[in-house]
Amino acid sequence: MTGRDLLSELNPNQAEAAAHFEGPALVIAGAGSGKTRTLIYRIAHLIETHQVDPGQILAVTFTNKAAAEMRERASHLITGSDKLWMSTFHSAGVRILRAYGEYIGLKRGFVIYDDDDQLDILKEIMGSIPGIGPDTHPRVLRSIIDKAKSNLRSPGDLDKWPEPYISGLPRDAAAEAFRRYESRKKAQNAIDFGDLITETVRLFQEVPGVLAKVQDRARFIHVDEYQDTNKAQYELTRLLASRDRNLLVVGDPDQSIYKFRGADIQNILDFQKDYTDSRVYMLQHNYRSSARVLGLANKLIENNTERLEKTLLAVKEDGMPVVFHRANDHRGEGDFVAEWVTRLHAEGQPFNKMAVLYRTNAQSRVIEESMRRVSIPAKIVGGVGFYDRREIRDILAYARLSINPVDDVALRRIIGRPKRGIGDTAMDKMLTWAQINGTSLLVACANAESILDRGASKPVEFAKLMEAFSEAADNYSPASFLKFLIESSGYLDLLRQEGQEGQVRLENLEELVSAAEEWSSDNEGGIAEFLDDAALLSSVDDMRTKIENKDQPEDAVTLMTMHNAKGLEFPSVFIVGVEEGLLPSRNSLNEAGGIEEERRLFYVGITRAMDRLFLSAAQNRMQYGQTKSAEDSRFLEELGGGFDSIDGYGRVIEYRQKTWRDFSPGAQPAPSVVKNTSPLTAGMAYRGGEKVKHPKFGEGQVLAVSGMGEKQEVTVHFGTAGTKKLIVKFANLSKV
Ligand code: ATP
Ligand code: MG
Repeated sequence: MTGRDLLSELNPNQAEAAAHFEGPALVIAGAGSGKTRTLIYRIAHLIETHQVDPGQILAVTFTNKAAAEMRERASHLITGSDKLWMSTFHSAGVRILRAYGEYIGLKRGFVIYDDDDQLDILKEIMGSIPGIGPDTHPRVLRSIIDKAKSNLRSPGDLDKWPEPYISGLPRDAAAEAFRRYESRKKAQNAIDFGDLITETVRLFQEVPGVLAKVQDRARFIHVDEYQDTNKAQYELTRLLASRDRNLLVVGDPDQSIYKFRGADIQNILDFQKDYTDSRVYMLQHNYRSSARVLGLANKLIENNTERLEKTLLAVKEDGMPVVFHRANDHRGEGDFVAEWVTRLHAEGQPFNKMAVLYRTNAQSRVIEESMRRVSIPAKIVGGVGFYDRREIRDILAYARLSINPVDDVALRRIIGRPKRGIGDTAMDKMLTWAQINGTSLLVACANAESILDRGASKPVEFAKLMEAFSEAADNYSPASFLKFLIESSGYLDLLRQEGQEGQVRLENLEELVSAAEEWSSDNEGGIAEFLDDAALLSSVDDMRTKIENKDQPEDAVTLMTMHNAKGLEFPSVFIVGVEEGLLPSRNSLNEAGGIEEERRLFYVGITRAMDRLFLSAAQNRMQYGQTKSAEDSRFLEELGGGFDSIDGYGRVIEYRQKTWRDFSPGAQPAPSVVKNTSPLTAGMAYRGGEKVKHPKFGEGQVLAVSGMGEKQEVTVHFGTAGTKKLIVKFANLSKV
């Protein structure tokens, strides 16, 4: 017992929610209102006041980082907090399947395939499926399969799909690919990310005894960010909570941003229907953001039509003005950010209190370069991460194959790294043999003498090497084992021959060994457990970031996508690329509900800011190697009314002049003319993404717009005539 009066550290609404004891409950509230804080205090309260055993409490969060943070916060509040089960859905799935997967036919030592491994399998099988052309990218199939899994659909469900096509592929072909993918994966004793949830659901459905066991370990269940659960996660939660019914979920429908991955906002909206006896708690005060920042966020999200209205009042004062900067191009935008970061830092703000958020990972490069020029330490979270690097994946594939000899995907990855004199023809023959005999490729290698006419000794040697690795796997710590692999596989020599680049790769491998070392100081288990964790590291995770920034001080500016920023907060936030085609993204323009989802994403971005918020857009941006003119995001206009002064067209001109001139270091003066969005000429004002018709070229889609009024030019892609640049005034275009 800490003897602390926990509930007094919350406001009355939060305290009421945190005091909730048994039965289902929903905490629904806007950003920064203390949902996560309330959830943690509720756990503390259960233990302190109701003497619930921490070993019977489960809290599911969105990222491992959030789980770690929760654990850290809980440790200050609760004695015995190390017994709490705090994890992501996926890590919970791994843990349950490792313990009980055998009940549904999963073999011990199964490995977890990531996105790339999935593609490897799909590439192999798709060629032989009628209806899937050579120009189909395996990614399309992967996304069909992932989506099916998030909705708990089987290949059989795709057979019965109501439309003849799924994502452009014939229904039967998609179903067949799904089916073959599953059986191939099963033969390789592997499961993918989606399976971590769906297989756990199946286990719970088919083996009630196991469900009961897990329920004993999770008598009180909490889910943070419930608005982003998909159907499979929903079902998993429902099954777990079905006996004791102590389920408390928190979320904000306005922050639902993972529809593209199958998240279903309806899960939170229907909570009261699913649990008719549930209590609902609303929180109405935002503790995070200045009143100005919050005002903008509220103003923006009101433009969504499909939403549940909520009150969100600022606790903080007005605070500093929000700065908007329209740079000439993307480099200018990067410099704007760098200048402000320098300035804030000079005023005493540490770099790690600042974050730059963007829509797509590709935007990070320019920002990073601008920062580097003036020696600002920055860390990119996400993107091509440490664990996606070739050498890391190679060594981890060696490790995987060592503990799971039927992992053909891993074998194919490494058999030629380093080169072992096993050619394509030999591989093909062994593959066929393996298929006919229903064995793995490694078994084929071991039997090469009866398969190949010549050169059989090479595969046999490889099989022997792998056998030695398998034996060693159990006897070494993860770090020593990885080191052993790097040295004994020939990989080290390979890199030594690669000069400078090899040296960099070698350093990364050394870092991998250190990561494993570090992992062992916090975790129990051998290489298999380490591999599980490495596979689960999501892009916002600590371990990954730490490794990526090994040479950098802890004090660095965070660069990440708005998706990755969910749940986090920073005193200063920059949101860059607030442009049409980026935010909202080009793809979203063609999807039902797309704009609303993008608006929620922007809302998430804005509400990460505690004190200072900077927005920026570029007028010209390089994309796919071409510089194109860019337009301010429509969302900026929607924010217009949230400022003190706006121009006649509802634009934030006055505000911008004030902040731009007064605050923005080294900025050019504001243009005297605002881009034309006058209602009078609105008929001519085209936007990127719009569908238009030309008397000669037919129908097309606007890619870019430049200039204004009489001089406005549009770049249009026409289905038949290709891409044309046209002056609007003369082109005789009409909107479709
Ligand atoms: P999001 O929707 O972004 O996930 P949230 O609703 O989970 O936000 P929290 O992260 O829990 O909000 O809280 C936001 C900030 O406000 C945190 O810094 C938290 O410590 C602070 N806060 C919340 N409630 C209180 C309170 N009653 N007193 C002081 N600070 C509070
Ligand atoms: Mg939260």
